[in-house]
Amino acid sequence: AERADLRAVGRAPVDAGPAAAPRVKLVLLGDSGVGKSCLVLRYVRGQFDESSKVTVGAAFMSHSVQVQDGTVVKFEIWDTAGQERYSSLAPLYYRGASAAAIVYDVTNPESFAKAKYWVSELQKNASGDIVIVLVGNKTDLAELREVSAEEGQEYAAQNPPMLFIESSAKTAANVSRIFETVAETFCSARGGQGA
Ligand code: GDP
Repeated sequence: AERADLRAVGRAPVDAGPAAAPRVKLVLLGDSGVGKSCLVLRYVRGQFDESSKVTVGAAFMSHSVQVQDGTVVKFEIWDTAGQERYSSLAPLYYRGASAAAIVYDVTNPESFAKAKYWVSELQKNASGDIVIVLVGNKTDLAELREVSAEEGQEYAAQNPPMLFIESSAKTAANVSRIFETVAETFCSARGGQGA
């Protein structure tokens, strides 16, 4: 029985057929405190915990999403687990990524200015076509906002094909949209290759 279990967690057969869900490794990037962990927990578990600093123990969390044409995309969402505070992220973090969410806090202009740094880190460490979404988080803190939606939109437009979404992990506003939009873009790029 042990042997069978081991085999079950091994590689999927190469000839998995059209039913196999495409896997998308999505890496979260952005300064510490912008809400990366909260976004993942909101999306995957539907929770938000303001009181305690959440620690995502696992290297990544999986979550499946169905796109408009019916394709199911299986996300592997990688969280930095706080590493970004101390140094650059390990090259392993970026390896095999086909999507990245660069997150900033709309109440923190410094975190927005750092988006450029995270884009350059991504370009240095990742390879191949990557779907990139710029995420302005914490929109619920409207009275503390210091980065306008227009500024975020403009930055994304200057760095095509970067997508742009504003969200709140606290209220859940637009959180699923981040991942749905990435999945749609990933699938249409793949479909486009075959057409
Ligand atoms: P990370 O370091 O980027 O992973 O950030 P965390 O997910 O740990 O969040 C940092 C802090 O911001 C925590 O105190 C969260 O409660 C808070 N936070 C995260 N997202 C939001 C949000 O959308 N709105 C508000 N008001 N606070 C948030």
